[in-house]
Amino acid sequence: MRLRRRRGRAGGTGICDNAGVDAPGLANVRIVLVGTTHPGNIGAAARAMKTMGLSTLALVAPARYPAPEAWAMASGADDVLAAARVHATLPQALAGCASVVATSARQRSIPWPCLSPRACASTLIAAARHGPVALVFGREQTGLSNAELDLCQALVRIPTVAGFSSLNVAAAVQILSYELYAAALGGAGAEGCESDSPPATADQVERFYAHLEQVMISTGFHDPEKPRRLMRRLRRLFGRTALDQHEVQILRGLLAAMEQSVRGGR
Ligand code: SAH
Repeated sequence: MRLRRRRGRAGGTGICDNAGVDAPGLANVRIVLVGTTHPGNIGAAARAMKTMGLSTLALVAPARYPAPEAWAMASGADDVLAAARVHATLPQALAGCASVVATSARQRSIPWPCLSPRACASTLIAAARHGPVALVFGREQTGLSNAELDLCQALVRIPTVAGFSSLNVAAAVQILSYELYAAALGGAGAEGCESDSPPATADQVERFYAHLEQVMISTGFHDPEKPRRLMRRLRRLFGRTALDQHEVQILRGLLAAMEQSVRGGR
């Protein structure tokens, strides 16, 4: 039987209803769509998510939303769409998230740590056991900017044939949602990486980077105009370590002590 277009009310019984799925971690995974141009893609992404038990959708400055095409393409995932939150900026959409992974159709000139879809899913699901995590998708034409990638700790690229690497954004959401679902059901990533402190949130890590940059400047180690990429490289370095909250506290304490020492001329 063909799916009928359903509009409006949240909830209900979509054909692909995963309401009964209880896969640990999935509820903490936020799918973030940045600057989506076609509202139909937002609906198609919501549908893709719902088939895989995901329900938290965040939209950053969508070009046109709400829009009837979104509801049409959601095709039964109206509840996911109805609950989607719209944000003006990416940092707002990432608030509270410990692990943030960006998706990209192409290789970047600065090599961010690159994960396979499977490794990305297992990393995110492991972190999602402790709190919110995010997977970020870019604009249909231009993807994500480098400044947006700076807010993410790693990058995931879905392997494709050479020379035609760009999937429709909702198709990319579908593939990565499937990997997240499989990782959550299989308990992938559950072993190891146990820490006595929860993972640091994106806001805590951002404040650490701001503090680090300020201390590097005040000690004369860093001229922000030269080399401009230093902060990006340091973000990459710390991004690989998956800092926990206690570790961020230690680093902030160290930076504060250095500031005091510089001020006291010691
Ligand atoms: N010309 C753009 C293509 C963007 S496609 C670029 O080069 O970045 C729109 C979005 O879909 C991307 O930002 C990414 O979020 C997702 N996407 C498309 N193809 C992908 C792939 N092979 N791997 C991972 N994400 C992909």
